[in-house]
Amino acid sequence: MSGAIGFSLPDDVAAVVEGVEAFTRAEVIPRFEANHELLDDVRRRYDDKGRYAPEVVDLIRQIRTASARAGYFNLAVPESMGGGGLGLLAYYAAWERIYHLCGGTNWLAQFTISHWAFGPSRVLERVTERAAAEVLPGMMAGETMMCFGMSEPDAGSDATMIRTRAVPDGDGWRLSGRKIWTTHVPIAEWMIALAVTDPERAAAKRGGISAFLVPTNAEGFAVEQIIRMWGEPGGSEAESVFDEVRVEPWQLVGELHEGFAIGLSGVSLGRIYNSARAVGLSRWAIEQSVAYSQQREAFGHKIAEYQGVSFPLADCATEIHAAHLLGLNAATLLDAGHRAIKELSMAKSYSVQAALRTIERAMQTHGAMGFTNELGFVEAYHTIRAINVADGTNEILARTIFQRLLGGDLDL
Ligand SMILES: Cc1cc2nc3c(=O)[nH]c(=O)nc-3n(C[C@H](O)[C@H](O)[C@H](O)COP(=O)(O)OP(=O)(O)OC[C@H]3O[C@@H](n4cnc5c(N)ncnc54)[C@H](O)[C@@H]3O)c2cc1C
Repeated sequence: MSGAIGFSLPDDVAAVVEGVEAFTRAEVIPRFEANHELLDDVRRRYDDKGRYAPEVVDLIRQIRTASARAGYFNLAVPESMGGGGLGLLAYYAAWERIYHLCGGTNWLAQFTISHWAFGPSRVLERVTERAAAEVLPGMMAGETMMCFGMSEPDAGSDATMIRTRAVPDGDGWRLSGRKIWTTHVPIAEWMIALAVTDPERAAAKRGGISAFLVPTNAEGFAVEQIIRMWGEPGGSEAESVFDEVRVEPWQLVGELHEGFAIGLSGVSLGRIYNSARAVGLSRWAIEQSVAYSQQREAFGHKIAEYQGVSFPLADCATEIHAAHLLGLNAATLLDAGHRAIKELSMAKSYSVQAALRTIERAMQTHGAMGFTNELGFVEAYHTIRAINVADGTNEILARTIFQRLLGGDLDL
């Protein structure tokens, strides 16, 4: 039990969270500090096409492999895949601790634990035997990386509008189409790509979409352009094209025509991750703000003495505490086998909204200092603002919550 939360994490979860913190202090933070000039300088972080520089890609790989060796990278990966088999409460609590500890200033921290859209997770539980033998070991060791290609230029919130087609070709298929916003596709070895395998069922929104594991060096596949966001000269998201890319039966993930369920399973993991990320970053931001308000003087007093500074921070603290409880509760419900669609939507949506307000307030509390790259609030704000769209926009989550209410789920 912490001072603020009236129930304790189970012993195994608490032990893993402490282990993750120790690992982050020993392996992640020192690597970031030793390389912060490379990582913080966008002229060095990216090459001239906007892709991460080879030294950056190597650092990301070092974090993944060190964490896999230490036993943390795959902590929430099902045991059937060789992972730690811990549930979503452990996943939530470990990520929350990482972001709380590292805040917006440690860019490498995001690679400490496998995330469904770059490494092993339950999303890969139903790959074929051949994929399990040939693809999973490299990913579980952190040596290789994947990405998840669901969104397309005409298919965002409504992912059933996917147009990438998998046309039968002998015993396999040929994929043609275009993906957009795919995080890490420029540096990943594999993509799980969603494609229409039964146009009639897909048009009727009754399945007809399948998931395929595609190597990013496949003939006919190309990353067309890195998408530059927030004024960055490069980034992780990119647009890619499939031009009759051949896929074989062993590359199918899960059941034919049922790939959408794979996507939804991943998005649920992403919602837990992003709830934890929002709360962890907010706790870090509030701690920085409280400390600064006790040091900084204006008009003969510490700024902590002005209610214009302290009351908004008190409101943020209240909201983050509520968000933390929502996240812990949603993860607990999911681990107990509940679908928790409403509760997970509430946790992700509220945590992100509360985090946006908190980080904005932290910037304001720090005056001009709040806008410097050095303090990390700008990086944290960008992160949180983007996840107000990724893994379900705030409006789509509100829609989901209200649909549950309309369906009679009024348990609050
Ligand atoms: C940083 C980042 C990383 C991403 N990474 C990936 C990735 O790795 N793989 C991947 O496949 N995708 C990825 N995405 C894409 C993401 O899943 C989509 O951006 C998201 O689903 C929203 O789709 P859209 O951007 O096309 O917006 P749209 O669906 O076009 O929505 C536009 C606006 O309309 C609103 N809207 C839409 N429908 C409704 C409705 N019914 N009611 C009310 N409002 C509505 C939305 O909330 C939004 O405000 C990423 C996005 C971001 C920002």
